[in-house]
Amino acid sequence: MKYTFKQFQAEYPTDDACLDAIMLRKYGQSPTCPGCGVVGAKFFRITGRRGYACQDCGHHVYPCVGTPFEKSTTPLTLWFHAMYLMTATRNGVSGKELERQLGVTYKTAYRIGIELRKLMGGKNDIDPPKSGHVEVDETYVGGRAKGIRGRGAKNKTIVAAVLERDGNITARVIPNVSRSTLESFIESEVVSGTTVSTDELASYGQISKLGYTHGTVKHGQEQYVNGIHHVNGVEGFWKHLKGAIRSTHIHVSGKHLQKYVGEFSFRYNMRHDPAGMFAQLMASL
Ligand SMILES: [Zn+2]
Repeated sequence: MKYTFKQFQAEYPTDDACLDAIMLRKYGQSPTCPGCGVVGAKFFRITGRRGYACQDCGHHVYPCVGTPFEKSTTPLTLWFHAMYLMTATRNGVSGKELERQLGVTYKTAYRIGIELRKLMGGKNDIDPPKSGHVEVDETYVGGRAKGIRGRGAKNKTIVAAVLERDGNITARVIPNVSRSTLESFIESEVVSGTTVSTDELASYGQISKLGYTHGTVKHGQEQYVNGIHHVNGVEGFWKHLKGAIRSTHIHVSGKHLQKYVGEFSFRYNMRHDPAGMFAQLMASL
């Protein structure tokens, strides 16, 4: 089941409808007034502002506070349209494409893209540490010089990821692939006692001493599965991430890569429920 653009437009036709949805998200069906403490308080729109006033005490609430829309004069319908586009495409949306679809300046489109990527990536940051059986892998992304491939290539940014088998992925930009960097990545993202599959990179060589059950595949010898061990899930994520960046964004600087990694982790983690992505993004506000 797809969440179609028609359905989306019917649900959020106006700025008022968008604001009501944000109010509902922030204060719930039966809002408690922060002013008078009444439960199930009735709130009325304040004309000309993105706010509501309590019927009993007149207290003002502004549900956009703390959301990407807080300091923006761009209409909420356009923000929501951008959210729809970000969640309806598998490869993401470029700034140029947002500019075209929303009819805003490139500068505004670019900023909307950045803010929504942060929102998507924020979900990644609050995911609990992984357990059971996980895959850990690292890769090199980007770099301007065409034709330069492989590890250590200039201008490339390194990303590490941990994927729980049949579960969620968490991916982060890391400064290098040293043992201490990768061990601290694993220790912060993976519960002790977990079974961890990696490739043969020496930096992973000591993780059984940290309390993990460790198994490897030797990619250098073209071994891609070793009993229960493989990192094919993370490899699939890398493939999608790199392909999408290449086809949609052409180039992403190292400085911004974490936001894209967060965006694609969000998308990957919603892979079994793509139609629910918009609602999930709303829930992240
Ligand atoms: Zn009140």
